[in-house]
Amino acid sequence: MAFELPDLPYAMDALEPFISKQTLEFHYGKHHQAYVNNLNNLVPGSEFAWATLEDIIRKAAGGIFNNGAQVWNHTFYWNCLAPKAGGEPKGSIQDAIVESFGSFSAFRDEFTKAAATLFGSGWAWLVKTPEGKLKIVQESNAGNPLRNGFTPLLTCDVWEHAYYLDKQNRRPDYISDFWNLVDWTAVKNRL
Ligand code: MN
Repeated sequence: MAFELPDLPYAMDALEPFISKQTLEFHYGKHHQAYVNNLNNLVPGSEFAWATLEDIIRKAAGGIFNNGAQVWNHTFYWNCLAPKAGGEPKGSIQDAIVESFGSFSAFRDEFTKAAATLFGSGWAWLVKTPEGKLKIVQESNAGNPLRNGFTPLLTCDVWEHAYYLDKQNRRPDYISDFWNLVDWTAVKNRL
């Protein structure tokens, strides 16, 4: 049973001018595809030959974990973004953010800081805890909050490959543009 690269939920140029077509061609078409290919080369004959990606994230280590989590993380990231999105969340997700962080702008500042200050490669996440609170977590490399019992709601990929073609070393500019693409309806549906 081979893992497959899921379709991108929009056209390669749909996130312009914030994320370029060229970045999506490499980030989705090359990086995400490479994690799928690597995983398919690693799992046959292992104890994860018939596992789901979620099982791999919770139980695997080494290359199988790294590539499996990166497949999941990227699919999730694409589904956090949408053209003509961004702005302020509405409804239950807005209420949950205000309850946990005080205001949307306080949440946005804290998430921005988590993404900007993550040392090296990794992911900033908004998660729901088992107690139902919202929380921001940083994960290095392929890290995924499912491993700690959290429900992922939103993520920002801060690996350099996510922004270097468009922004070179300016990670803060990429994060600033990220807010114009967040699909709050999708985030709300994960609550
Ligand atoms: Mn990436």
